[in-house]
Amino acid sequence: MKLLIVGGVAGGASAAARARRLSEDAEIILVERGPEVSFANCGLPYYIGGEIKSRDKLVVTTPERLRTRFTLDVRTQSNVESIDPTNRKVRIKNLITGDVYEESYDRLILAPGAAPVRPTIEGIDLPGIYTLRNLQDVDRIKQRVDGNIKHATVLGGGFIGLEVAENLNHLKIPTTLIERNRQLLGPMDAEMTKPILQTLRDHGVDVRLGENVVKIEKTDHGLRLILGSGGSLETSMLMVGIGVKPEVSLAESAGLRIGKSGGIWVDEHMRTSDRDIFAVGDAIEISHVVLGEQSIVLLAGPANRQGRIAADNALGGDSRYRGTQGTAIVGVLGKTAAMTGASEKALVRAGRAFRKVYIHPTDHAGYYPGAESMTLKMLFDPATGEILGGEGVGGAGVDKRIDILAVAIQAEMTVFDLEEMELCYSPQYGSAKDPINMLGFVAAGMIRGQHPQTDMEGFLSSDGSTDYILDVRTQEEFDRGHLPGATNISVDELRSNLDRLPKDQRIAAYCQVGQRGYLATRILNQSGFDAVNMGGGYKTYQLLAD
Ligand code: FAD
Repeated sequence: MKLLIVGGVAGGASAAARARRLSEDAEIILVERGPEVSFANCGLPYYIGGEIKSRDKLVVTTPERLRTRFTLDVRTQSNVESIDPTNRKVRIKNLITGDVYEESYDRLILAPGAAPVRPTIEGIDLPGIYTLRNLQDVDRIKQRVDGNIKHATVLGGGFIGLEVAENLNHLKIPTTLIERNRQLLGPMDAEMTKPILQTLRDHGVDVRLGENVVKIEKTDHGLRLILGSGGSLETSMLMVGIGVKPEVSLAESAGLRIGKSGGIWVDEHMRTSDRDIFAVGDAIEISHVVLGEQSIVLLAGPANRQGRIAADNALGGDSRYRGTQGTAIVGVLGKTAAMTGASEKALVRAGRAFRKVYIHPTDHAGYYPGAESMTLKMLFDPATGEILGGEGVGGAGVDKRIDILAVAIQAEMTVFDLEEMELCYSPQYGSAKDPINMLGFVAAGMIRGQHPQTDMEGFLSSDGSTDYILDVRTQEEFDRGHLPGATNISVDELRSNLDRLPKDQRIAAYCQVGQRGYLATRILNQSGFDAVNMGGGYKTYQLLAD
């Protein structure tokens, strides 16, 4: 068996190592365009900021090591130029000597990744403009930021853009972040990204949403960015992080099927439309476990797992990929944002019925020092309670809760399972009722009808709410800020003030995070009122209101 792999980083290197573990006899050739294989793309932003001090740390393994430990035929600085599927051959160009030669294969695995998108703006090729994909890119950026620059601009507020902005902030370089959309972190729901926006601004990052760059000019000291809004910005460097595009040209010219969203089409075995060619990683599109639609997911975990699966199958096995759920996380200046499964906007786009819960817990027992708060949002099927998606933002513990929801989604669990989950608890680690249990309690209560809830959007909609809005927090909390038109009766005084409330109008009760509002709803419903809790309370209102 002769296995040839194109691309020697996340998906490709995983496939190669797995193939060798499965077969000592196979001839395995790993062809990589760049000088390094298996480097840590995900660590690149932290090298810019100095969090990762040594460049060597970014090199997970070397070609020499792959040769000795895995007896791989590693060919770096070699570009696969074309594939001849009929004769099972590829043409490889040695980028040092310029020699072009043919190499045959029995099975081929494509792991070419995705290339950063460069917008078609006048001036985009001027010096001082960077994208970040590999070690050569990071070397150029590092050289620039270490040269005492006055100001940096990051174009794009996605995961990589935010990581770069964070690291420029660590270096105390005044930074502007320009994002075309009205929110950061496009895959997430807008309200869940607001704490990240606030954190960046609190740290002095000049974030401009709804802005774009339409032209770039060279100046004596750097660059002038002409902005879509009409103004301009002087900057020493521009880091472009507006997204990536799957590298499909090789596959396309070989006649392989390209999917609807522009990635290489593969089946659950990672097999392309040619039975001897497999493809993995950023270059492919794959079925989303919740939405069922084909999507391009640009994450290292899926690429590594797909590499293993492709190697299994290329060597005659029967491993299947379960689909992708887009579990992603980013840390920004002490805050974390994470998501798994479908976002609310993706569900709306797909026309899928859902309900949602917001809670605002702390990562561990509030009475134990150092508790940090977070906001969790969970989307679920209104009939079955199946968990469809989760998002979290806040301090410590967001990662743990989103990881639990990720497992729950993969295991097709329901909100009723979350009620029953037995998770680690001691005061410094969690709460006897973990936030995950709380998500389950609220959502299950909604489905069972014990917890009538209305979404804040009803109140915020342009039609306004016809409900009687009841704030059940204390007078002091009410005075600090409340929903327009709300009446304040604290939950502790509610039972003795029922005669003040209308029987002919629905009462929408709210508190700070939802818990007292729920109790108030229970008191009111059992006293003959038509009452609902406003999900997630005043904190959620603050996130949703502009
Ligand atoms: P890659 O790892 O990009 O490898 C593809 C390789 O193929 C490249 O080295 C390329 O040179 C080579 N190649 C392409 N075409 C050819 C050819 N014709 N011939 C020879 N070689 C070729 N993901 C996360 O999950 N978490 C993170 O925190 C995270 N952070 C990131 C930060 C940065 C700065 C970047 C750039 C990415 C980050 N990612 C992160 C994404 C993650 O790195 C990718 O999803 C993952 O590397 C994809 O693996 P891949 O094998 O498909 O492609």
